[in-house]
Amino acid sequence: MAAYQLLGWGEGVERVEVPVQMPRGREVLVEVHAVGLCHSDLFVMGCEEGVLPYDLPLTLGHEVAGRVLAVGEDADGTLVGEAGVVHGVWSCGECHNCLRGLDNYCVALEGRVGCGLGHDGGLAHYVLLPDGRHFVPAQDVPPTSLAPLADAGLTAYHAIRQHGDALVADSVALVIGVGGLGHLAVQILRATTSSRVVAVDARPEACALAATLGAHHTATSVGEALAQLAAGTGVTGVDVVLDFVGSDVTMRLGADALTPGGRLVVVGGARGSIAVGKGMTLPLGWQVSAPFWGSRDDLVAVVELAEKGLLNPVVEVVPFGAVPEAYTRLRDGGITGRLVAVR
Ligand code: NAD
Ligand code: ZN
Repeated sequence: MAAYQLLGWGEGVERVEVPVQMPRGREVLVEVHAVGLCHSDLFVMGCEEGVLPYDLPLTLGHEVAGRVLAVGEDADGTLVGEAGVVHGVWSCGECHNCLRGLDNYCVALEGRVGCGLGHDGGLAHYVLLPDGRHFVPAQDVPPTSLAPLADAGLTAYHAIRQHGDALVADSVALVIGVGGLGHLAVQILRATTSSRVVAVDARPEACALAATLGAHHTATSVGEALAQLAAGTGVTGVDVVLDFVGSDVTMRLGADALTPGGRLVVVGGARGSIAVGKGMTLPLGWQVSAPFWGSRDDLVAVVELAEKGLLNPVVEVVPFGAVPEAYTRLRDGGITGRLVAVR
């Protein structure tokens, strides 16, 4: 079968031919129908040797939708023929975090997270899952919409759910970066919370997308967005900042936007940092967190939102043969929503 693999650190993906492995034991073989291309793939490709504990060659692709083709002798046979999406965190299922529903923080992962991130992923015609519980069935959602839910939707949902207690009544949520993750965050905030949603992206077209998806205020800078908020509502602080960029600049802007008791949630991987401490430059009661991906239960909830028509990824579909060029475009910026490759 064809697969896009990372053959050397600091390089792009290359199309190669690899054997299809038939499932054994609890394994499940999924025929891949659509794969989302994530900014995190660019991060992995750009790492120097030794940064990530991954063996090369590695097939990328961690946003995978498809159909179960075959299962091993110890797996759930009723999965065969099911359409759905892969939960990419290949957790152990047995550690104390897995047992309390925090499987995205499984203690056994040791840096090799799962699908396309440490283990061969779904940028291929087939992907082998170590266990059937990593597949979430879905009804009547096309694969091009399902694929981005696996990470962009799931990560945004997990970050928002963790702060659900603060996203109530007339609270304000600020989304910084309305790309693959951020455009789904805007939809999830509108579908699951009563918060006023303020969305900021450096690109006017991304702001326009956020407005289409229900953001109450949009602007190309945090300052302009907060001015709009104050003019429209009299509110001068934000309860939850969801930073999908994660640079020094956006984290500082996000922190400065917080109301007392507000929370800075850093999702983006631009390797920014911020100093925290009592009596420093954050408001009273500050919380700073860096959520990672999402649990299987979160993915089930995300799929349910999509099944109900409440979550609709905006995608640009590219053919499987055009994946390398698509990554170049993602790196250059200017994508609206999510790029999804189909076979
Ligand atoms: P993307 O490229 O699709 O979107 C990023 C958006 O941010 C773009 O619209 C861009 O215009 C905007 N942007 C960039 N710099 C900006 C700035 N200074 N101010 C305002 N807007 C700015 O990327 P994506 O796939 O949505 O991923 C977003 C980030 O989240 C990446 O860093 C990715 O690695 C990270 N990520 C984290 C997790 C996690 O579990 N924490 C999971 C997936 C992705
Ligand atoms: Zn575990």
